[in-house]
Amino acid sequence: MDHNQARQWLATAVEEAKAGLAEGGIPIGAALYGADGTLLGRGHNLRVQDGDPSMHAETSAFRNAGRQRSYKGTTMVTTLSPCWYCSGLVRQFGISRVIVGESETFHGGHDWLAEHGVEIIKLDDPECVRMMKDFIAAKPELWNEDIGE
Ligand SMILES: [Zn+2]
Repeated sequence: MDHNQARQWLATAVEEAKAGLAEGGIPIGAALYGADGTLLGRGHNLRVQDGDPSMHAETSAFRNAGRQRSYKGTTMVTTLSPCWYCSGLVRQFGISRVIVGESETFHGGHDWLAEHGVEIIKLDDPECVRMMKDFIAAKPELWNEDIGE
């Protein structure tokens, strides 16, 4: 996949992350794109806003996309390497590709996904890294709660 396209899609996830931060939440955003490039759904982590620890950015985008006949050819774009739970979602539904904004502040399940045939595009985006680093420095308790530590 073309990295310029991947970066454009990442911008949607970054917008979501910023919206989450503005709401007092955890700045992780995601979006699900269809095989034809249509935006199917977008969302951000809602742990704080909804008091729901299961509403991760990827889960939120996935749910906002509603039911799809097939996830073949779809792309999940996320600002941060997906945790085990969201990596499981990717495999469960057969999402073909994951675009990872960054995996420096958190190394999730993207290697495992790659081993199982999911195309992984890592962008090492400095804005995504900065957003997470600033957040972790400001609210370490909230971050540790989010990653289950
Ligand atoms: Zn997750």
